[in-house]
Amino acid sequence: MDKRQLYDNFIGIEEEMKRMLSSFETIKSDMTGVLENNAELEIENQHLRERLSEIERQTSKDFNESSDANLSKSRQNLEKLYDQGFHVCNIEGMYGSRRVDDEPCAFCLDLIYGEREI
Ligand SMILES: [Zn+2]
Repeated sequence: MDKRQLYDNFIGIEEEMKRMLSSFETIKSDMTGVLENNAELEIENQHLRERLSEIERQTSKDFNESSDANLSKSRQNLEKLYDQGFHVCNIEGMYGSRRVDDEPCAFCLDLIYGEREI
């Protein structure tokens, strides 16, 4: 191997390492984005769980007291949650899941505004 070829090989390896470093930076940046997104979702999930258990407590308390005023209060809670974009119906385990593009849900609306007691 002559000196010229050795030098070319060396430059080739250096360029390869630069490309790899550039790919590495891209992957690192993508990964940061994913981790940030994940953290946001965890916080949102935590808030939603707290909200749900708060509403479940309120609903069961209202149910036990079973007065018209309290029933309408728990409907208001469900309505608030629904307006924030979440299902309050329990069709196929939908309760608490996000309504896609805020699409209306007949089951939720029936639960909130329907005649049936909750
Ligand atoms: Zn629903």
